[in-house]
Amino acid sequence: MSMLRATALVSLALLGACASFPDESTTVVQSPPPFERLAAGNRRFACDAPLAMGRGETRRTEVAKGQHPYAIVVTCSDSRVAPELLFDAGLGDLFVVRTAGHVLDDHALGSIEYAAEHLGAHAILVVGHERCDAVAAAMSTGELPGHIESLATAIRPAIVAVPAGSDASDRCVAENVRATVTALKHCTPILHELVEAGTLDVRGGVYDLDSGVVKMIEVRAGEH
Ligand SMILES: [Zn+2]
Repeated sequence: MSMLRATALVSLALLGACASFPDESTTVVQSPPPFERLAAGNRRFACDAPLAMGRGETRRTEVAKGQHPYAIVVTCSDSRVAPELLFDAGLGDLFVVRTAGHVLDDHALGSIEYAAEHLGAHAILVVGHERCDAVAAAMSTGELPGHIESLATAIRPAIVAVPAGSDASDRCVAENVRATVTALKHCTPILHELVEAGTLDVRGGVYDLDSGVVKMIEVRAGEH
């Protein structure tokens, strides 16, 4: 057998083997759903094994052309609760809105609406955290100076029913998360319509400062 003919036969054999696979040009590589992706990133962070992908020049150049964040994270401004680190995310992955105690005002809501409506993010994760100073301020009875009082005033309705006890702080943090999740689902027409249409999902979690784990919490329909 000539070398040319042998080569042709091998090529035909490969062609036959490859023919059973889908055409790569029509195969869409699917990313995991947003909340699974956040959970996987948080597992890597908590295990001290972040991939720290998407932070170099290639990704920077890619997202310079436009942003398509896969999730919106609404969380506290606390310096220990940095979403890109907690979820091992890269540039352009997360649209982040942060205020102390993740208090929502018109500017925060407008930012979230923009990301959900125009950037195509279909998931919002509200992240509270243990030992949150903003929640602690809301639990205190004294008047707070300056605009800090406005944060406490915004949080108090969510925690007013939490009974005193050794776990009151953690329960207040969780209730504050539930209140923010509920507000995002119902308080603005744009977000409410997206939720009702099934194109936006809003969930809540609490970040453990010690373990690094974001634990999801249940928010029942009609709560708050
Ligand atoms: Zn906080």
